[in-house]
Amino acid sequence: MTKVTDWRHHFHQYPELSNREYKTQESIVEALTEMGLEPNTEFGITGVTAFIRGQNPGPLIALRADIDGLPVTEKLNLPFSSKVKTTYQGNEVGVMHACGHDAHIAVLLGVASFLSRNTDKLNGDILLIFQPAEEGAPEGEEGGAELMLKEGLFEIEKPDAIFGLHVSNFKKWSNLDKTWTNNGFS
Ligand SMILES: [Zn+2]
Repeated sequence: MTKVTDWRHHFHQYPELSNREYKTQESIVEALTEMGLEPNTEFGITGVTAFIRGQNPGPLIALRADIDGLPVTEKLNLPFSSKVKTTYQGNEVGVMHACGHDAHIAVLLGVASFLSRNTDKLNGDILLIFQPAEEGAPEGEEGGAELMLKEGLFEIEKPDAIFGLHVSNFKKWSNLDKTWTNNGFS
């Protein structure tokens, strides 16, 4: 569990915007490689995918985490707060995992670590999908799940089912004004 927390803090501290998740991609590749997996970076510009092969027959289940941050300046001052700044639509902006995708990456890496150590008990296979640009590709660019599919991700092997998750802070969400949700940052 410590490792999952460390991953979450790391990705929180170094967020990257949609289709610019280069360091995020590198860190995911490194973590998966350490687990003995063979990460594939050919889909979605900055995406990462990998198979975990179970030792028993069964379905192929895809598990997906989104990996991009938002053009939001972090106001908290924690040891792992983001100080990242970048240019977005001509303005200098802060970058923050304000949506929780740092947690999504850490959770999926944790799941990958557990499953890759327990393939003897795994009935079927797992396709890990770390998907960039969930918030939407920059103007004029393609990205996200749509691009990964267009590039043929499911043509290698089509999953029988796919699962993703999205964290939420109900207390915080209930206090947010409508403009936030109307901006599509859900
Ligand atoms: Zn999100």
